[in-house]
This record gives sequence, structure tokens and C-alpha cells, in this order.
Amino acid sequence: MDRNASARIRPGALRTVALGAACVALAAMAPLCIGAQVPIVGHAVGATAGLAKDPTLALALHDISPANIRHTDSVLAAFGTRHTLSDTTSSTRGIGAARRYVYATLGTISTQCGGCLRVEYDPAMVPLPRAPNHPPVNVVNVLAWLPGRDTNRVVVLTGHYDSCRCALDPMDSVNDAPGADDDASGTADVIELARVFSHRFPKGLHATILFAVVAGEEQGLLGSTHLATRLHDAGYRVSGDMSDDIDGNVSSDNGHTDSTSMRIYSGDPDNSPGRELARYAGELGALYHPGISILEVYRIDRIGRGTDHEPFVALGEPGIRTTERMEALDRQHSPNDVFSHVNFPYAANIARVNALVLGALGAAPAAPDSVRIQRLPPYGLQWRVSWQPVPGAAGYEVLLRSTTSPKWQRVIPAGDSTAMVVDAQLDDLWAGVRSVGTHGERSLATVVPEARPPRRPTQR
Ligand SMILES: [Zn+2]
Repeated sequence: MDRNASARIRPGALRTVALGAACVALAAMAPLCIGAQVPIVGHAVGATAGLAKDPTLALALHDISPANIRHTDSVLAAFGTRHTLSDTTSSTRGIGAARRYVYATLGTISTQCGGCLRVEYDPAMVPLPRAPNHPPVNVVNVLAWLPGRDTNRVVVLTGHYDSCRCALDPMDSVNDAPGADDDASGTADVIELARVFSHRFPKGLHATILFAVVAGEEQGLLGSTHLATRLHDAGYRVSGDMSDDIDGNVSSDNGHTDSTSMRIYSGDPDNSPGRELARYAGELGALYHPGISILEVYRIDRIGRGTDHEPFVALGEPGIRTTERMEALDRQHSPNDVFSHVNFPYAANIARVNALVLGALGAAPAAPDSVRIQRLPPYGLQWRVSWQPVPGAAGYEVLLRSTTSPKWQRVIPAGDSTAMVVDAQLDDLWAGVRSVGTHGERSLATVVPEARPPRRPTQR
């Protein structure tokens, strides 16, 4: 089949539906509409945006064990402190003992799957931005790679294993900083997902999955910055990055409790890769019902705070933060962030959402590299959408949504064509193109047009 052939889709030519808006259709003429509009082209999609369920991934969700997460968290918290500057030689206390434990645990998991994981230390000597007079510090991530058929494309999940008592003294590397919630809970989630994926997918997926236990977060995202830069400089394509940080507390210090919902943060603009990843996670949640409802927050992180997805986002990669709904700020970054306050069934549910994104993105072909749109004459109300073929893609879909809609609203199958004429006024919409795999696996959508800042008035 000619992959360059245009698929001309006109099921709803010159008809539009106005969402919450006035719309007057005139026979044989273009309708007059005011407000947010979505043309009747393709099919309407609901909260799942037309994603298809993968039975093996659904089974993997059931493998995720709160007891395993609990065990890992208890061991990490028992190292006393995992401060970036803490002891590296003791076998029972400090960050060195913690990373050797993580390395050994991931190594055991790999042995159990016949060596399917490649486990490595990922060290970097880095200056401390918050202590400029301090000599550079050896910040060591621990990585477990599950190689896919495409070893150049990765989907990343991070949890940070360092801790601090920053509320008292950010540089105190001696006294207890158990960090049971921040972020032994996320670290334990990452290790548990390495176990589950190595069991369910020992031969890997389409993309390579990178389970990354990173360091130096509390000192300025040091380990994740090193990792994001390393991947970027080596030419890896990051299809998605999640920071699983602070994942097990269900009660806030004002007495509110919530063990049924979680938050996903993604940065602006509205068509950013991270926002698209957040949408994808929400769609997967709606499809699989992982036991927790997802509150999407369209903001890079909580106000004045940050975590390990940001170095990826800064390099143009899709990055999100997954985290608990309630936070106990009186316990975070203090000696009181203890094991007894972490709810492990809840942390397991957040891990299930991470698993959905890793599994779905990992099984799907890559998203199209770039998408072009071109206004068609004579009236300019039709647009040609085109993209380059994606290796491993069996087909493509065009998605549409109003600029005021947080969710995709229409999908138009494109078969295996790499271009389509769309009867829709893209001046008023976002459009996206996603790849579809042989078994219905969907990539993230590559969204057009690119956001642009307003033009400055010319000097007169
Ligand atoms: Zn944290």
C-alpha cells in the first residue's frame, strides 16, 4: 500500500457541533458558530480516548504487592539517614548501605528472570548547588534496564532514595532522616515494578523500560539531572518519564484523609509532551480502573516545589510527577517521616498507575516524530495533516479537541496512510497524531500546532 497516499475523510463535511456555544447551520454553506467547536468528523471518544486494553498489563496490575513495597520501605527507613552526604561505607547506616541494598535487590530480581534486567550503578561527581564551597559529591543512581526491541527508546520511572531533614538543617547528614514517605515509598514502588515487569515481560516490550532509583533529589535534583542529561546526550529517545515521589501518606495535618485519589502534575503549555503524558495516564486510569482516581493538575508541580521529572521536561521530554493527594508537611523532611505513617495499599495503587503508563507506552510504537499541518484552499477550512512513517506502527489516528477541552474528543482512523485531509477548522482546535501497533497499542499523540508566544509590535 502506498504509505504516502492521502486518506480523505469527509463524513461530516460542513457540519459542526458547538459545545456550549451558539451555532447556526445554513444549508449548503459553512455553519456560523461561536465558541468552542468540534467538527463531526471521526468518532467521539470518552475518557479513555479510544485506548485498548492489554490483557497482560491488566494481569500485571494484580501482581503489584503492597507487602513487597512495605518490606522495601521498612529496610530503607531503617538505614537511619540516606542524606546525600551521609556515610557511604557502613553496611547498616547511610546512603552507601541504601544503594548497595537497592542494587542487590534489583540484582536478585534479575536473577529470578534469567538475567532479563541490566542492573548498574550510574555515578556522577557533581557540585552541590546549595553548598558551593563543598567539594563535588559522588551522586550514585541505581538503574535497572529492561531492554525492549527498540533499545534506543526508553520509558523511565524514577523514585529518589536519598532523604533529608531539610526542615531542620538541609546539610545534616548524620542524624535520623528516615524518609519513609519521601521517598522510600516511591523507591519501593520502582523496585516492585521492576519485579512485576521482569516477571510478566521477561523478553521486554517494544521500548526499553528504565527503572531508575535516583539520588541527590533533596540537594537539587542532582541524580535525575545527571540521568536525563546522560540519556539525552547519548541520543536516547525518552517516550515518557514519571517521577514517583511521596506516595504513601493518606492524611494531612489538618485531619483530612484521602486514600482513594492521587495527583499527576504536568507543566505548561497545554500541548506540551508532559501534558500529553498526563492525559495518557488519565485515559489509562479510566480504562483499567487501577483502584485509585486520578486528579490531573495542569502545573509542573506543587507551588514552590519540584522533583525529578523536571530535568527531563527541561530537555523537551514528556515528564510528569505522580504523588499522593494528601501531604503531611509537618512530617516531610523531618525525623518524623517514619514508616508507621505510610499506607502501603495506597502506595501500591499509585504504582499501578505507573505500571499502566510504563506498560502501555512501552508496548506501543513511538509517537510520530513530527506532524505537519497545512491549510487547504480555496476556503482554508480544511487542513492537510501529515507525518513521517514510524517503525513498527501498523497504522495511525488523528485526534481532535477544542482548545478549551482538557481531553481528546474525536478520533479519526488513518489506516496506514501518513497524511489525511481533515474537515475541521484547526485554527480553533488542537490536533494530534498517534501511532497504533499491531495489537491496538497506542502511542502518545504528537500535537500541533506548536505553541508560540505573541509577536512583539514592530517598532515604528
Ligand atoms: Zn521527594
